[in-house]
Amino acid sequence: MPKINNRPEFFDVVVVGAGLGGIYAVHKFLQEGLKAVALEKADQIGGVWNYNRYPGARVDVDSTDYSYSFSPELYREWRWSERYATQSELLRYLNHVVDRFDLRRHIRLSTPLAAAQWHPEEQRYHLETGDGASLTTRFLVMATGNLSAPRDPAIPGLADFKGQVLRTSRWPREPQDLAGKRIGLIGTGSSGVQATTALAQVAGHLTVFQRTPHYAVPARNGPVDEERYQFYASDTNNMREVFKNSKLFGVDGSGSALGTPQPAASYSPEEQEARLARQWDVGGQRFHVVFADQTSNKEANDVVAEFVRRRIRRLVKDPERAEMLCPRYPIGTRRLIQADGYYECFNRDNVSLVDITRSPIERVTDTGIQTADGHYELDVIVLALGFKAFTGEINQIAIRNADGKSPTDDWSRGPRTLFGLMTAGFPNFFTLTGAGSPSVLANLFTENEYHADWVADCINYLDANGYGSIEPEVAAQDAWTDRVAAVAQRLLRLQGNDYMVHRNEDGTRNFIPWSGGVDTYAEALEKSTANGYEGFTLNPAASLDAHSNEKIVALSVGGASHVGS
Ligand code: NAP
Repeated sequence: MPKINNRPEFFDVVVVGAGLGGIYAVHKFLQEGLKAVALEKADQIGGVWNYNRYPGARVDVDSTDYSYSFSPELYREWRWSERYATQSELLRYLNHVVDRFDLRRHIRLSTPLAAAQWHPEEQRYHLETGDGASLTTRFLVMATGNLSAPRDPAIPGLADFKGQVLRTSRWPREPQDLAGKRIGLIGTGSSGVQATTALAQVAGHLTVFQRTPHYAVPARNGPVDEERYQFYASDTNNMREVFKNSKLFGVDGSGSALGTPQPAASYSPEEQEARLARQWDVGGQRFHVVFADQTSNKEANDVVAEFVRRRIRRLVKDPERAEMLCPRYPIGTRRLIQADGYYECFNRDNVSLVDITRSPIERVTDTGIQTADGHYELDVIVLALGFKAFTGEINQIAIRNADGKSPTDDWSRGPRTLFGLMTAGFPNFFTLTGAGSPSVLANLFTENEYHADWVADCINYLDANGYGSIEPEVAAQDAWTDRVAAVAQRLLRLQGNDYMVHRNEDGTRNFIPWSGGVDTYAEALEKSTANGYEGFTLNPAASLDAHSNEKIVALSVGGASHVGS
């Protein structure tokens, strides 16, 4: 027995991350009879909904959609208290799911994956965790999300600050007493805008240091849309259908106040204004689809952008401040922020706005922030600087294939994947909602479920047919990468400075997610699958002799295991 205990623990599938994707994935693989575990580096489950505890944090997609669909009972028994759930409610939901499906014992907390090495002769990854434990697995599934690893704050002098520095993406768990404090906030993306709306209510003074003004349209939080809830509760397959038929952002036309959109030019100026005003009043992500061509036609986009600028000027009393808040880039080419009461914050006496493109931050001092135009005395600095999108988490782990390469080594001109699920040269290595899939443009609950189901089906197919590994063919991956690029050419967004755009050294750009809609994505993926995983290379399972020792070990240390082939 001691000999056995010294051997690495064996799994069929190791899932990295216990956020909303990892929780479902480990559940799905266990349901399929696979020996599976999720490794989570934090000391709690929840992923981004564990880390991003900043005041004002809530989802910006309707919670009726931002839920799991895999269990009708779960869907029916959990009632969201608001149209957009807060971070704490979302974390309660995820904990509820973990307990309801008895997953806690299959999730190892405070266990970062440090390294993964593919061994082709065994068709396994050898893993090392941060605490020095060794594991082997046939399949490695990254459920680390695309917006997880915080962007490093490259602000000179930050370490000198004697006050408190808080990051939205790693907000402390303990309640922070910010009442009456002088707070400086840097970063005006979704996180910074949401934090502003909450911090303005409690701060003695809040100074927002803005590099780029972004569009923030009303979310119109309120009661849950009961009709939509009932639509899904009556049959959660409806959610999956909505997802699979959706275009951008995982929303379909149903529930839209406006009906199916036509190109902007097909409406009179009065009709255009009425449509925009109606959607402004309803709130939510459908502000992206007021006109059919607003993401691709600059004139149509201008109509929408100018409408929002007029609203900002109406909402913000000081005309100079209103102009500072008016975005100048095409609307929707950066993440369209959903927030209630953001612009109104700038009518408050305790909120000021600093344009750091005109008055750049020179350094943080021990008592505040020094810009080119003056010094701001602060008690607290809040950083809302965003994430190392798409590759941040993957690159934190020393994942190596048989040639010693890491999955992103060939990504100098943007991610190269097949369907965003796999990358060539890395057998049995999967990324849920990865670059090259609809990814951050789709509903991440349903998309994670869709991808985890695909991986589970794939493993079952390999096992049933005597295969031990799968990886993309280089030609198929090249073709998919070209398709991802081609479908994005029409997007105004490609020219923006969004984290979804990869900028090459020669000035060309690649859009990172698949932007052609979930519908066309699902069609392509399912066609490949139906044709016996067309575009992938499937390798026969290594001989039983090579596996037999470890299989016995696996059965000994881990109880029943699905040993496959
Ligand atoms: P973000 O959208 O990337 O915004 C980062 C902000 O920090 C930007 O305003 C950026 O300025 C600024 N910034 C970065 N480096 C800076 C520097 N050195 N000096 C000054 N300013 C700097 O990040 P985020 O707000 O965390 O949002 C990221 C994504 O997370 C969102 O797009 C969304 O997908 C997701 N998210 C969702 C929710 C939700 O569901 N409600 C909430 C939060 C976040 P520039 O604009 O000039 O680059």
